Amino acid sequence: MSNYKYSTLAVHAGQYPDPLTGAVNVPIYLSSTFELTGIGTDRGWDYSRAGNPTRDRLEEALAALEGGTSGHAFGSGMAAIYALVATLHTGDHVICSHNVYGGTTRLFNQIVRHYGIEIEYVDTSNPEAVAAAIRPATKLMHIETPTNPLMSLTDISAVCEIAHAKGVEVSVDNTFMSPVLQSPLALGADIVMHSTTKFLNGHSDGLGGALIGSKPEHKERFHLVQKAAGGILSPFECFLVLRGIKTLPLRMRQHEENGRAVAQFLSTQPKLNRLAYPGLPTHPQHALAVKQQKGFGSMMSFDLGSREAAGRFLGAVKIFLSAESLGGVESLASHSATTTHAALSDAERESLGITPGLVRLSVGIEDKDDLIADLEQALAAV
Ligand SMILES: *Cc1c(COP(=O)(O)O)cnc(C)c1O
Repeated sequence: MSNYKYSTLAVHAGQYPDPLTGAVNVPIYLSSTFELTGIGTDRGWDYSRAGNPTRDRLEEALAALEGGTSGHAFGSGMAAIYALVATLHTGDHVICSHNVYGGTTRLFNQIVRHYGIEIEYVDTSNPEAVAAAIRPATKLMHIETPTNPLMSLTDISAVCEIAHAKGVEVSVDNTFMSPVLQSPLALGADIVMHSTTKFLNGHSDGLGGALIGSKPEHKERFHLVQKAAGGILSPFECFLVLRGIKTLPLRMRQHEENGRAVAQFLSTQPKLNRLAYPGLPTHPQHALAVKQQKGFGSMMSFDLGSREAAGRFLGAVKIFLSAESLGGVESLASHSATTTHAALSDAERESLGITPGLVRLSVGIEDKDDLIADLEQALAAV
């Protein structure tokens, strides 16, 4: 399989005909338990928390798309991040990118910290800050690039080199790019994390999360967390992600084309400030985006100056839906301060630059001229 090109992998990796019936689509195995063939022997499955044939196929597909050795599907992106830290011990130190998805900060600050695991937020876009933050107790560095919603980038190979020299493992939240537009493992990362809720599923009809490992030890560790802690993805949701993956490269091409066109249009609009899209030459890390990404994607944010202006804009859009989430076929617009980053204090949001007027767009696959016209009329209402 691995010698096939990407679009072929997306349609076929893990998605071969069912050995029993020849069904072209991976069947949804709605069975919690499996008949054993004897005492202590089975046909490969015994209980669906430990393994399910539909989930196996999704995990195989995910591993192939990220070039990893094993995939692990969880009930949501947050369950996948939880699995990432589930095997750490009291006294361990974790470095995390400083403007990550708000749910990641909520999990780390309100739950994981109480286990005696120290979480330190570092501006991972600065390799010197990363080097200075590593201690003997550091076990994991979790980075998000580009970050949500400010689209700040971390140089994956540079920070992996620094981390690996000190024996620290690096995980990358690759949700914003999807496996099509960025390959963290090829850049040196150890583990990739996804909220499959976003581009991988692609149709906003199911939550899910994934970890993709690069070593046999990861397979053992993450399988243990799946089996022991139980935060696994249901067979039905696994099927939805498998179905989404078949068109992922095709959808990403359209997301990319529309993202670029919308960003280009917004860059000419005087009513907004701080337009953040790594594909624009004005983005401070445009060169890094060109180097480590295979595209710029369809996520961007900008500042309309005040909460009132953002409210008028979100009330005026017609095709863009004012809603949380991202990566679906439909275009969405959201107010970061009161949605994805609502769990942070005003001071924390302010220090990160998540201002009251900040709006984030997830540009879908509709016609780009219609999307631009919609944004134009909504901006006129501001
Ligand atoms: C949505 C998201 C998550 C959380 O995933 P859920 O599936 O909502 O639990 C984590 N990281 C990023 C970058 C996200 O966009």
